[in-house]
Amino acid sequence: MPTFRADCHIHSCLSPCGDLESSPAAIVERAVDMGLDLIALTDHNSALNCPTFAEVADRAGIAALYGIEATTREEVHVLCLFETVDAALELGETLYAALPDIPVVPERFGDQVYVDAHDMILGEVEKHLIYAADYSLDEIGDMALAAGGLFIPAHIDRAANSIYSQLGFLPEGDYSAVEVTKWPSRLDTQGHAVISDSDAHFLDGVGMRSFTFEAERPDFRGLKAALEKRSVRSSLV
Ligand SMILES: [Zn+2]
Ligand SMILES: [Zn+2]
Repeated sequence: MPTFRADCHIHSCLSPCGDLESSPAAIVERAVDMGLDLIALTDHNSALNCPTFAEVADRAGIAALYGIEATTREEVHVLCLFETVDAALELGETLYAALPDIPVVPERFGDQVYVDAHDMILGEVEKHLIYAADYSLDEIGDMALAAGGLFIPAHIDRAANSIYSQLGFLPEGDYSAVEVTKWPSRLDTQGHAVISDSDAHFLDGVGMRSFTFEAERPDFRGLKAALEKRSVRSSLV
């Protein structure tokens, strides 16, 4: 079976700490240059750049997933990845409504903008997207899985906003995989598939960490089946 390379944790100019140059079109161009086969856009608590991401990825002929890096009530970052833009947008709307009414300060955190395929600004998001949505880890997991998505605790080995930093352990759960940033991981991954992604907030970061998986095609179904079979390999290994 063929092997494909994926980076399923990439931020765009919509994320509060994301570089304004990281438009969906620029991310796709960079991903193609890096030889990636599958990429996912995962902005903090919003999927508003996913429609454009879908358009430019389709044009470039690279497979894409549509996602969100949700912040749970416990301040844990989790990746929710979907096959369709609509599913990502729907979860994004739910999460955004559950964010506190704290506006972003663009001078400090940059603008949170969503753009079209030519990098023209379509709109900006007012609430600061970095804060926690008022849903628990379990509730967000249930929402992501019920919508047919993948649910992946992000950067579990980081000192902040990870499941280990916030809870001290990995609670039993229906995780599609867990994401690490270093290898070997001394943390208990409880037999879940282990992936690594760039978590890029700048264009140069796209593909700097990645993972490979075996599948017939580099798409959502192919990745889901590979995660279930544990036929994935971190680029850090
Ligand atoms: Zn994160
Ligand atoms: Zn991230």
